[in-house]
Amino acid sequence: MLMSLLVVGSIAFDSIETPSGRVNEVLGGSASYFSAVASFFNPVRVVAVVGRDFDKSLLDFIKEKGVDLNGVYVEDGETFRWGAKYHKDINQRDTLFTKLNVFQSFKPKIPEEFVESKYVFLANIDPDLQNDVLNQVRNPEFVVMDTMNLWINGKRDSLINVLKNVNGLILNDSEVRELTGEYNLIKATKLVKEMGPEIIIVKKGEHGAFLYADDNFFFIPAFPLDEVIDPTGAGDSFAGGFMGYITGSGRLRVSEYKKGLVFGTIAASYCCERFGIERFKDLLKNELDERTEKFLKMIKL
Ligand code: AMP
Repeated sequence: MLMSLLVVGSIAFDSIETPSGRVNEVLGGSASYFSAVASFFNPVRVVAVVGRDFDKSLLDFIKEKGVDLNGVYVEDGETFRWGAKYHKDINQRDTLFTKLNVFQSFKPKIPEEFVESKYVFLANIDPDLQNDVLNQVRNPEFVVMDTMNLWINGKRDSLINVLKNVNGLILNDSEVRELTGEYNLIKATKLVKEMGPEIIIVKKGEHGAFLYADDNFFFIPAFPLDEVIDPTGAGDSFAGGFMGYITGSGRLRVSEYKKGLVFGTIAASYCCERFGIERFKDLLKNELDERTEKFLKMIKL
């Protein structure tokens, strides 16, 4: 039986500029990308907040994928807004602005029907909110979290607190370095384990990702793309593929985490093909599976 996956994260209006063009105030946010992908594998429940300026029909395509949006609250104020500009080296981006807006005073209340969720993904939001959520969920079996430099630098103590209570952490190479103060990624990853999570995934953009679990490292490349239109949300899509796959399978073991890493990689590659979340509006499960097959052939020795 499939057991539901709860995600708490952001729903946003993103303004993005890449070498391929720009878009203004399009649907974004960690919870949006995550649920659009994870719902290919497992029913997803979302807890997030939007402002009065948000048209909920923007989430219709996610709803049609069976995602339960009962935990998306509408509060007085404006929706979270984020702006970024990517360099020619698309792994590099500058955040132009982060307007927390309704997130500033948000106190996530997990709907009663969600508190028994067995699997939880704490997408990238303020670690205080991540902590709040964990305190409300009853005995989750598997909790994974994401974070970003804003919180590593600005809310370190809260972040360290959440880390103690999760099974897994997904972050990128620069974040793992910032979190630990260690440049060598292998050493840094081992240091993160001492902070709490027993499973750590480090993403390295176009250079792939690795998993650290049971004292072993497992590396995979990224899916090679001729053109990256917009990498926004690739990290959240990666997390959606990883968490969706392993919670859908329900087998919490290293061999499955490795497969999850593959689905995460493939989801992230699709994400980059169009601006914002557009690619997930018409992506089919069999396209995801086909590219996964192609990728597995590609990396086979
Ligand atoms: P990624 O490219 O995977 O790092 O994710 C980018 C998404 O994260 C965008 O859609 C943003 O709206 C969202 N985001 C960026 N900064 C924050 C933040 N401080 N809190 C929550 N979500 C954020």
